Amino acid sequence: MSSAAAAAFDTSLVFVGGRWRRCADGRTLPLIDPSDGSPLGEIARGNAADVDAAVHAARTALDGEWGALAAAERGRVLLKMSALVLEQADELARLEARDVGKPLRQGRADALALARYLEFYGGAADKVMGQTIPIANGYTALTLREPHGVTAHIVPWNYPMQIIGRSVGAALAMGNACVLKPAEEACLTALAFAHIAGLAGLPAGALNVVPGLGEEAGAALSSHAGIDHISFTGSVAVGALIQAAAAKNAVPVTLELGGKSPQIVFADADLDAALPFLVNAGIQNAGQTCSAASRILVERKVFDEVVARMAERYRALRVGPALDDPDVGPVISARQHEIVSGYLDLVKDSGPHVAARATLPATLPRGGYYVAPTLVADVSPTHRIAQEEIFGPVQAVIPFDGEAEALAIANGTPFGLVAGVWTRDGGRALRMARKLRCGQVFVNNYGAGGGIELPFGGVKHSGHGREKGFEALYGFSALKTIAIKHD
Ligand code: NAD
Repeated sequence: MSSAAAAAFDTSLVFVGGRWRRCADGRTLPLIDPSDGSPLGEIARGNAADVDAAVHAARTALDGEWGALAAAERGRVLLKMSALVLEQADELARLEARDVGKPLRQGRADALALARYLEFYGGAADKVMGQTIPIANGYTALTLREPHGVTAHIVPWNYPMQIIGRSVGAALAMGNACVLKPAEEACLTALAFAHIAGLAGLPAGALNVVPGLGEEAGAALSSHAGIDHISFTGSVAVGALIQAAAAKNAVPVTLELGGKSPQIVFADADLDAALPFLVNAGIQNAGQTCSAASRILVERKVFDEVVARMAERYRALRVGPALDDPDVGPVISARQHEIVSGYLDLVKDSGPHVAARATLPATLPRGGYYVAPTLVADVSPTHRIAQEEIFGPVQAVIPFDGEAEALAIANGTPFGLVAGVWTRDGGRALRMARKLRCGQVFVNNYGAGGGIELPFGGVKHSGHGREKGFEALYGFSALKTIAIKHD
């Protein structure tokens, strides 16, 4: 691939067994640029036959060159992929800008995260060790971590590069062969990733990419009898379908689902430090982030001050086409625009009030899916905008009095993905962190700068299983116990 080649490939093909080809029935789906609603190209509408071919190619890779590589050799291929992703970061960011509507800086951050995942998992590939277990004299017992086999990866459109990095990266490091089904709304960087894998020398069939509709390619993949593990990232409703499909074949499944994550601000917090995180975690990627801080809980003593300071930031937000690198780009689709607008209509009709709304410039391309970032204050914890995942640039600010009420509100949704706590009281930070029902808690920060090394996942409707960090390597492997009687 030349340095500009990430953009120069036929987007309408599937990648199976190391080769690019049209899907079995030659059908395609349109891709739309969310920044102006214009056609961006076509992707393959992969179907059950393509998925079947991809699963067989993956199995063949396990039985062939890929399966024969030593762990350190697998790691080296991932490190080469990481270097190529870094080289292509700007090009990948441009692809993501046009495909997802993601501002260039955010797309570049995703590309750097993908490179870092490949570096982390490439380095870890030969460092996953088992145990020896002293069961009885005359025995030697040990455990081994083995790949599951063929792993299915179904990913959403909001962070394709990061999610591919954390799931496919970890699965390959453990020696699995992967079938990746990117989202129909956005899969250009998934296809670019397959090109990069080929250039880095990843053996044929270790990675296969079949774009297509969820109910066609996605359903065919999750129910395929030849897969050994499913990693799904997406909505709660589809997650339930995936788990049911996995149950029929008795394969393990990791579900990374939605969230309604709170950041909790106590009156003793360093507000200057907190303010940028409170707003950015709500508007990043136009609020289409699983770990978006869509609820801001503020102790009543500083409620008005926090709302006023957040409002000031909202009014300064620049909204625009992704390639102009604004603070906030469009949402992904007309459908998502309609969903988010529906939630904003609820605000007009009842209790809470709009504390600030960013301006949509008159120069925005007609046909783009822009939503004005909106800060809503005095929201009741039971209001729909405080309970449901909106997936748009909308934050609900909720007042509270004291730790007990903060906890009750924070834990009072069906979700449990992430929480942030802002306080200068160390004891309170620990009490809160222990009692919050979610997968990860950040104290006096939110996200730890991306946290590639940190295990990530949810409880309750936010899912189960963990990706990211070293923990993912355990998830993408099966433990085998061997006991040898020698005396
Ligand atoms: P979605 O569930 O509609 O789609 C996700 C993927 O599933 C897509 O590839 C889609 O084609 C596929 N799919 C759809 N129907 C399917 C079916 N019947 N069988 C198999 N596959 C099917 O989700 P979305 O709208 O693309 O993504 C947004 C959701 O993802 C949000 O809820 C968000 O919170 C969640 N998400 C979670 C995390 C996390 O780490 N917890 C990260 C990113 C996004």
